[in-house]
Amino acid sequence: MDNTQAKSRIEELRAVLWENSRKYYVENAPTMSDYEYDQLMHELEALEAQFPQFASPDSPTRRVGSDLEEAGAKGFAKYPHKYPMLSLGNTYSIEEVEEFADRAAKSIDTAFTYCCELKFDGTAICLTYKDGVLFRALTRGDGVQGDDVTVNARHIANIPHKLHGTGWPQEFEIRGEILMPYESFDRLNHEKEVEEEPLFANPRNAASGSLKLQDPAEVARRGLFCTLYHIPAGQVDYPTHDDALKAAASWGLPVSEHRQIARSIEEIEAFISHWDTARKDLPYATDGIVIKINEMAVQRQLGYTAKSPRWAVAYKFKAEQACTPILSIDYQVGRTGAVTPVANLEPVLLSGTMVKRATLVNEDQIRSLDIHEGDWVYVEKGGEIIPKITGVEESKREPGAKEPQFPKVCPDCGTPLVKPEGEARWFCPNTAGCPTQIKGRILHFLSRKAMNILAGEATVEQLYNLNLVHSPADLYTLTGTQLLQLEGWKEKSVQRFLKSLQESRKVPFERVLFAIGIRYVGETTARDIARHFGSIDAIKLATREELLAVPDVGEVIADSVLSFMQADTNLREIERLYDAGLQMEVGAKAAQASDALNGKTIVISGNFSISRDDMKALIEANGGKNGSSVSSKTSYLLAGSKPGPEKVKKANELGIQIIDEKFLYDLIGSPEGTVSAAPIKKADGAAETAPSVEPSEPTLF
Ligand code: NAD
Repeated sequence: MDNTQAKSRIEELRAVLWENSRKYYVENAPTMSDYEYDQLMHELEALEAQFPQFASPDSPTRRVGSDLEEAGAKGFAKYPHKYPMLSLGNTYSIEEVEEFADRAAKSIDTAFTYCCELKFDGTAICLTYKDGVLFRALTRGDGVQGDDVTVNARHIANIPHKLHGTGWPQEFEIRGEILMPYESFDRLNHEKEVEEEPLFANPRNAASGSLKLQDPAEVARRGLFCTLYHIPAGQVDYPTHDDALKAAASWGLPVSEHRQIARSIEEIEAFISHWDTARKDLPYATDGIVIKINEMAVQRQLGYTAKSPRWAVAYKFKAEQACTPILSIDYQVGRTGAVTPVANLEPVLLSGTMVKRATLVNEDQIRSLDIHEGDWVYVEKGGEIIPKITGVEESKREPGAKEPQFPKVCPDCGTPLVKPEGEARWFCPNTAGCPTQIKGRILHFLSRKAMNILAGEATVEQLYNLNLVHSPADLYTLTGTQLLQLEGWKEKSVQRFLKSLQESRKVPFERVLFAIGIRYVGETTARDIARHFGSIDAIKLATREELLAVPDVGEVIADSVLSFMQADTNLREIERLYDAGLQMEVGAKAAQASDALNGKTIVISGNFSISRDDMKALIEANGGKNGSSVSSKTSYLLAGSKPGPEKVKKANELGIQIIDEKFLYDLIGSPEGTVSAAPIKKADGAAETAPSVEPSEPTLF
């Protein structure tokens, strides 16, 4: 390779790696496997070593991938790390682990040991404790500064707010990983599947995305947990890394017990080979083993490169891959009419589970993988969970194999498919008549985050096939006699179902709006639109401009709401749901939890234990008004963590009282400690008072 070729390949690799790093760390939606990424990184390292004239401090070989949100994107404050948060040198080969051990042995003349640990596959976190109390939680960010996710960290069950025991330094940082166990990950993805939202590729992405949510109550629900593995040197005075971790555990900090001191490369290899199998029984993801030199004095001697410590190396397990033929391709229709190709595979064992199906995402993906009928394909489990087709074994292609023909008509109802501008997916436009879409909409309506009615796919299938339910409103006309026709249903199941149907009449309007299933209107958007307009009648009349005035509502969502509200079938359905007694406005009673803040205008600033939107709703629910800027008319400035300095200054100048969250809860008489759930509880609880239309008790028999 000559200089020109090397320069151009180096530039190309840097661009590809930065682009994929952004997809991985910021969007939490990687499109390349870790192995491929690491191979490209190693190629770049080798080229930079061979052609040092093209070295650059901005190369991805010298800088850690950044998870920092764009300034202002989500409103996380950024703080510098006291010590840089680096990456780890990694390898997929035992020989390179041996080389690491040899290098260390050659440069150190005293005896030393290794601490072998699991490499937890989550997202890195840095916790600072001050006077024994959790003070701050930062993401790794770009290694130099991180996003402040303290409020969310406080909602992760095993992160202690206060330390116990003795001997902790007055202020110190401890680092580790936030993980999402497989069970929580499966639950979350299942919910997303029902809602037809994009799934998380693996638990790592799910943990990282969840840590950056702006709704701490949702963070708490996601079932994240933390495991800690590093106290930067200089903060505590222990002879070994292992001693420091033992001390941290004695202070109540969650430190993994799965670590072992090794005295030789053989002991390291034994640890690796044990966990290569044993890790499959762990309830969370690991992607390798980290081998660290245990003695702090030796660590100090070896130091760091720009990107990683010289005293540690990660041995990564290669994602398991299998090659198997495609038997057929199904084209599945979702509730919004989107058609997704799914490959049926010759069953193959992969990381302990039998893989039979894998998504092909959309038509473009089939093309870019160059898939032909009957092809042998490589299947990988991204993060070892969701099977993904990563490539084709062309040598096994049958001569004359055809490219699959993406259907022109809906595989369910036969209506010609359409591809709206800017969409990568094909859609069945027969919204009103396509059976799969109808059943999908009913299932979405019933789902936990929507109306939370006790029924699943099998019930919906039966109700549809018996011609009893064709739209959500039909559910409210069901009688006990009709329900007894369902296979396996007895009086008890009928009563349970009818009771949950009755309960659903109390579900707040915000969730009803989500349940009716307007394309692109997810849970949060539905809540924002509902609160902005107050009632379904106001939404029906809303113009495009008025819809665009709702925070976070862009043109796509505004147009989708407009077209939904213009269709007669939808308007009739809404009318029937209204007649069935569902909440169709943000109920006055629901909004008015108390009048403790009557006549008070409150300006909020900073971050709270609940989202800022929830805090504003709480103020209104208790009779107060939200002000946007501090003026002589402001009653209080409610300051969370890191309030805007300008607002604080102005309040001081004008003599406006600055209060904190606890003071507010005292004012409205809400018990401390339930703060995160307060507004949600209040809205739901208040909605338990009379619904706007008195529902008639369903006829039982
Ligand atoms: P890494 O994940 O390979 O290793 C460093 C990280 O390991 C640390 O930051 C820490 O968070 C974690 N870790 C887990 N257990 C640990 C333990 N016991 N001790 C110390 N650290 C531990 O490195 P990285 O810089 O976070 O990420 C780079 C890797 O991410 C790449 O090697 C690649 O595999 C993957 N990546 C993939 C893509 C893609 O498109 N697929 C893009 C960017 C990065």
